[in-house]
Amino acid sequence: MNAHRMKPRVLTILGATGTIGVNTLDVVARHPDRFEIFALTGATQVERMVEQCRAHRPRFAVMSEPAAAAALRERIAAEGLGVEVLEGAAALTQVATAPEVDTLMAAIVGAAGLPATLAAAQAGKRILLANKETLVVSGQLFMDAIAASGAELLPIDSEHNAIFQALPRDFDGDFQQAGVKALWLTASGGPFRTLSAEAIAAATPAQAVAHPNWVMGKKISVDSASLMNKGLEVIEARWLFNARPDQIKVVVHPQSIVHSMVEYADGSVIAQMGTPDMRTPIAYALGFPERIEAGVPALELMNRQLSFEAPDTARFPCLQLAFDALAAGGNAAAVLNAANEVAVARFLDGAVPFGAIAASIAHTLEKLAGGAAATLEDLLEADRQARSVAGMYLGALRA
Ligand code: NAD
Ligand code: MG
Repeated sequence: MNAHRMKPRVLTILGATGTIGVNTLDVVARHPDRFEIFALTGATQVERMVEQCRAHRPRFAVMSEPAAAAALRERIAAEGLGVEVLEGAAALTQVATAPEVDTLMAAIVGAAGLPATLAAAQAGKRILLANKETLVVSGQLFMDAIAASGAELLPIDSEHNAIFQALPRDFDGDFQQAGVKALWLTASGGPFRTLSAEAIAAATPAQAVAHPNWVMGKKISVDSASLMNKGLEVIEARWLFNARPDQIKVVVHPQSIVHSMVEYADGSVIAQMGTPDMRTPIAYALGFPERIEAGVPALELMNRQLSFEAPDTARFPCLQLAFDALAAGGNAAAVLNAANEVAVARFLDGAVPFGAIAASIAHTLEKLAGGAAATLEDLLEADRQARSVAGMYLGALRA
């Protein structure tokens, strides 16, 4: 490869200790001339953060949990690593928007990632967006902030990254102009794809997090099992690509080789394929517009079967709930997301059965959809109320 002459990109990684964060650092470590780490953030995993500080020597390490920050501070001092430790949610925004930073990897899980990611959009950073919940909760506001500041948005979610790669480079959201008919999101179908409704309703957390093709954090693994992940991705695609809901299609593709597709007016369907490994979309976004080495094994296609089938919204009602929330507009997607976060956490704690996830989201949407959604404050209020309504519903189930 040619010697690389540009100034290195200066990165903050929100959620560095998570699955996406670890994969991002793996790609970064392959290109020491291209990237410098300004800040890494985590919540509670002190040991992993110590290791990452040792390997990458960021200027700042942030733990959102103060007790974890205190423990990290001690370890950093004991090892003489010279990394400044900050704590709390405000520090996440501080390191996401610092003037030294040009690129943000937004990889916190859940709506907790929203404030710092939105602030980085307002500050005009290049944003590598893994935290799909930010777009689900605040899609319009977030895209408006990107447009107003001139920030650059590159999708990390493998489906959206695939669509981004399959769209014309100058695509500006005008489907007609670009001759785009539809966006096809592929879904693996998750670990419960072939189970009966009864078996799904009785599934355990261990079964739900055992994804057939991808190693991911627990929350997104449960979302994949319920197909809520695909539902959130439909909403994410709506905002990223300015798609109407009827222009977004979902197809189940159990092998996770085709990562998504764009259908054009002339009948062409352009797919992006690859070994299922998040380092591919991460490297694509880190290097954009260049292609850089990602450490991903080559795709082995010989003697492989690729299959496609329709999703079953009767066994997987969460997918339909997401389409419904998208159609309803306003605060509905924020409500859907918050109710889902609460239900998934309770399910992972063993407090409620898998079937309660969809039921509690439907209940919460019924109670709260239609509320105000004009401002960020409205959306955060919808998020708070939905957490409370879903929590009460699930609490009653447990009793
Ligand atoms: P993960 O659970 O492995 O990691 C989550 C990260 O967020 C950790 O660093 C954790 O410390 C941090 N975090 C959690 N709660 C926090 C809080 N309240 N405040 C601050 N930080 C907090 O999750 P993941 O699998 O890496 O997923 C991260 C995001 O990327 C999610 O939005 C997910 O939907 C999206 N995503 C993940 C994958 C994947 O393959 N893992 C693929 C596509 C999209
Ligand atoms: Mg995805």
